[in-house]
Amino acid sequence: MTARVKNGTWRSWGGNLTADPTVRVRPTSSDEVLRVLSEAHEQGLCARPGGSGHSCAPLVPTEGVLLDTSALKGLVSVDEDHQRVTVFAGTTLQELNLILEQHGLALANLPDSSHMSVGGALATGTHGTGLGQPSLGGQVIGLSLATPTGELISCSETHRPDLFDAARVHLGVLGVVVSVTFQCVSAFRLHCAEFREPIGALLDTLQERMSAADHFEFSWMPGTTTAHTRILSRLHRLPDTYTRPASPISRALRRADDAVLRTSLTAGLGRVGNLIPRAVNGLNRIESLAESFRRYTDVSYRVFTVARPVRYVAAEYALPLEATASAVRELKVLADAHVYDLSFPLTVRCAPPDPGFLSPAAGRYTGWINLRQYGRRPSQSFLTAAERILVDHGGRPHWGTLHTRTAADLAPLYPRWEEFLALRAELDPHGLLLNEHTHRLLGV
Ligand SMILES: Cc1cc2nc3c(=O)[nH]c(=O)nc-3n(C[C@H](O)[C@H](O)[C@H](O)COP(=O)(O)OP(=O)(O)OC[C@H]3O[C@@H](n4cnc5c(N)ncnc54)[C@H](O)[C@@H]3O)c2cc1C
Repeated sequence: MTARVKNGTWRSWGGNLTADPTVRVRPTSSDEVLRVLSEAHEQGLCARPGGSGHSCAPLVPTEGVLLDTSALKGLVSVDEDHQRVTVFAGTTLQELNLILEQHGLALANLPDSSHMSVGGALATGTHGTGLGQPSLGGQVIGLSLATPTGELISCSETHRPDLFDAARVHLGVLGVVVSVTFQCVSAFRLHCAEFREPIGALLDTLQERMSAADHFEFSWMPGTTTAHTRILSRLHRLPDTYTRPASPISRALRRADDAVLRTSLTAGLGRVGNLIPRAVNGLNRIESLAESFRRYTDVSYRVFTVARPVRYVAAEYALPLEATASAVRELKVLADAHVYDLSFPLTVRCAPPDPGFLSPAAGRYTGWINLRQYGRRPSQSFLTAAERILVDHGGRPHWGTLHTRTAADLAPLYPRWEEFLALRAELDPHGLLLNEHTHRLLGV
């Protein structure tokens, strides 16, 4: 088969998913992608595109053709006057950030990690935090899709706008995304202030706190009474004579603090907690002591993203903003009761309404609640109980994280669900791009 590479077991970043596809391919151009799709069809195989494997929902695994997009990467074009940049979809956000920096540009908002691919991040509705700044899909102004029907289709806000809004969160079922055009902004800096605050008072004023900051998030360790808040303020990039980026020394110290104090501690305590679950309560208290008060300023993407050397799996839900504090209160009661199950902090972020048909933040201001668990053995009983609370508060699951929702639960939550399904059927009439999980998710 075209672009075939050495076979072998595929593993997700979090280690909870594996796949042994019949064929693994790594195309380098849109023509190769189209040939792979056509050959898969001829051979009666399904095909699933894969990005950086950062999803812990089984979106990528297939027994057919695993179409690795990692060689479809790099810059396609830059329009500096209009601050628009087109890249191939296998480009990682980290690579994109560096490309943009060379042109004095940046993305307005970013997730907290930059290792996912552009095509993979869009697929699941990847978001950052901040009520005034769009998620990733809201920053896209055009993209091209190689479809199982053998076409390379371009769409944008003005050309095939319905397909474009569907493709902003595409789940990898509309085609293989080949290139993506972003509307960027001028490069900017972020000032970050981190505090520890009593969680009760914070939840009482959560919406105000989210509205008052450019980017606001907090995390809370089960068994403790304080939250760790992170408040980011956007600073215009001033001429170099006025200011400098963070000095290499202060940046190195901050990274060392992240890596040594926060990450190693989390990893070490997570391992101990795995062996002795009942010890996690005490360990969480130790860990919360490591979270200091800090203030720093740096280039935007270095502040949005944090290093993640410790592997975990996550469950995340998008709630109506106004329901978020109440859901966190209930989760707190649950987590405190099951304290040995959670050795990572619960994290809360926020986002404005998203235009993507299947964006979990579609049509409403959103509070995102993220639950992470150390290693490959998430506690099913905790996740089941937590999911009930999140669903009861009107939550929609993050497509890339652990959840148990299927089409019957999801369809009523998305006003444009049927339109998405109709476009999928038009672009992939034989279901070439579906695996077991996407069949179940979409009910097709
Ligand atoms: C450490 C870490 C931090 C994270 N932080 C955040 C965060 O801050 N905010 C957030 O919202 N999420 C976050 N996530 C979740 C992550 O953004 C999503 O799971 C994202 O989809 C992963 O992208 P990926 O490139 O790894 O794609 P994969 O996981 O490999 O694939 C995801 C989906 O994209 C499809 N796909 C990939 N490439 C293409 C393509 N070119 N064309 C068509 N379909 C394609 C796949 O078929 C699949 O359906 C995080 C995950 C991890 C592990």
